Amino acid sequence: KAKSEGRSTYHFFETGMDAELQQRRSIEAGLRLAMQREELRLMFQPLLGLAEGRITCVEALLRWDHDERTVSPAEFIPVAEETGLIVPIGEWVLHEACRAAAAWPEEVRVAVNLSPVQFRHKDLVGQVRSALAATGLAPTRLELEITESLLLTDSESTIAALHALRAMGVRISMDDFGTGYSSLSYLRSFPFDKIKIDRTFMRDLTTRGDSQAIIRAVIGLAQALGMATTAEGVETEEQLAMVRDHGVSEVQGFLFSPPLKPRALANLLNSGRMRGQARKKAS
Ligand code: C2E
Ligand code: MG
Ligand code: MG
Ligand code: MG
Repeated sequence: KAKSEGRSTYHFFETGMDAELQQRRSIEAGLRLAMQREELRLMFQPLLGLAEGRITCVEALLRWDHDERTVSPAEFIPVAEETGLIVPIGEWVLHEACRAAAAWPEEVRVAVNLSPVQFRHKDLVGQVRSALAATGLAPTRLELEITESLLLTDSESTIAALHALRAMGVRISMDDFGTGYSSLSYLRSFPFDKIKIDRTFMRDLTTRGDSQAIIRAVIGLAQALGMATTAEGVETEEQLAMVRDHGVSEVQGFLFSPPLKPRALANLLNSGRMRGQARKKAS
């Protein structure tokens, strides 16, 4: 009996692996066609500046409409990175995000996520320069979000690229801060403009004293280093009150707005609705 159970377990496992591999292959094949079929699009999520009492920045988030569903970036970005497809896709994202932002009020910046794989491509700086030139967006209105994993590999050329981007006037943010292994040492490797505190810290902020202490310390550290901070994943009034008390510069999360379609975001920016709401909530 034990033997047959073992066998069926093994069989089940094998089928599971197969399905996963098949899934990756189908994502890869689909992604190659996604660009020419115009299945990729951007959603935009506002970040609220608490001192400013308005939307200071908007993050571009990639979506893929494929086979009658919307595939999440968590599913296809890793495949795009493995296959190198992230390079042309990332270039499209940069261009599209800058194009959208050029039509927004001047005081609103746009944030674009960059994959470490894009940094391995020699001409990332040139790609950013082209996107800005083609869309007429001022470099100071562009923020590039990178994760800690970027600095794990190839750090000399990566740091050089970051400095070149910075010299153009582009801002550099560290995304998902606190989820990597030696987060603190990364803060010495490059003078980031902004630290985005990962939303896992927000999740148990109101129930765990240690998360609160960590957030307070990160904000204090950022302030001492002259870096702004964003709290990601703010979903409740309680979380907002806490991060505001600790002096966070910006908040992003479902409490204010989920990622929006380009038209809805443009309407929001023009209506000034978020402005009043932010003032009320911030005061
Ligand atoms: P991220 O850069 O940390 O983006 C924030 C993610 O948190 C987004 O997920 C957003 O929808 C989600 N989020 C925002 N507010 C809340 C909240 O209050 N609660 C919860 N539970 N979630 C919230 P999304 O759009 O699924 O993107 C996931 C990740 O995919 C991003 O994380 C980013 O690392 C990556 N990504 C998205 N677009 C791009 C892109 O154009 N290029 C690259 N390389 N990566 C991208
Ligand atoms: Mg991001
Ligand atoms: Mg993030
Ligand atoms: Mg995150």
